Amino acid sequence: MFILVDGLGMGGSNPDVNPVYSGVCPNLLNLLTCHAGSLDAGLGVAGIPQSATGQTALLTGVNAARHMGRHVSGFPGPSLRKIIRENNIYDKLAHRGYSSTFANAYYVSDVNEVAGRKIQSVTTVAALKAFGGVRDQALMEQGRAVYQDLTRASLRARGYEGPVQTPAQSAQALVAIAREHDFTLFEYFQTDRAGHKGTWAELQRILGLFDEFLADLLPFTREEGVLFVLTSDHGNIEQFGARSHSMNPVPLVATGPGSDFLKKTAFSLTDVTPALLELYPCKNSSQ
Ligand SMILES: [Zn+2]
Repeated sequence: MFILVDGLGMGGSNPDVNPVYSGVCPNLLNLLTCHAGSLDAGLGVAGIPQSATGQTALLTGVNAARHMGRHVSGFPGPSLRKIIRENNIYDKLAHRGYSSTFANAYYVSDVNEVAGRKIQSVTTVAALKAFGGVRDQALMEQGRAVYQDLTRASLRARGYEGPVQTPAQSAQALVAIAREHDFTLFEYFQTDRAGHKGTWAELQRILGLFDEFLADLLPFTREEGVLFVLTSDHGNIEQFGARSHSMNPVPLVATGPGSDFLKKTAFSLTDVTPALLELYPCKNSSQ
């Protein structure tokens, strides 16, 4: 199980600056202090790390910032999309004989609507390439996809009239998906949003929600044979007041089989996919 948390760096422990240390997310804090290595998010390129190049590097192993000559924010353009389509971890795992999935729900009735969007996230481009689609509204309502805000509350503004979820229910849905696959990715980006715009209270609320979600994931992550990884594309939320991304390294939380290897092997965003692949040896002996 791989959780990509957008905008979560390894900051200092001052609880007036870093909301992770302010008492609202004990499960996350424990993972960061007891089970995490750290990754350089700078990719050897000057400037502030950004999402499009950072996430591409994480999920492909390609130094996307160096390829572009700069850090690219937000959403990938044609060059980055090409790198994602050609190098994403899902396809590499499939080639080795493993199943993978992207657990996030998209609030659409027709997945072609997502494929037709001009703006697509790194995770969207990767899922469309590898799986030919994404999890839609119907799957979400069956509990077979997890909406990014962990509660579906933000979907009210888009006309959603179904029940809201607790973060615990979202965690249970994610666990059920993970049990059916060798590799499951879930992306949470409210942390980055809150870091850009949020008040202190909002940062704490977002981290608290995520921590409730983590609380219900942790029993699964401790089961035998489960490798749990939580990392980020760049810092942000851990540095209150800046309202921009930080230069801090990002955590590489890893528990379960292979976790020590990951933490000893990966020191940059580009190291994560190659190190993970080492843990998934080819099943097909002809390859
Ligand atoms: Zn951001």
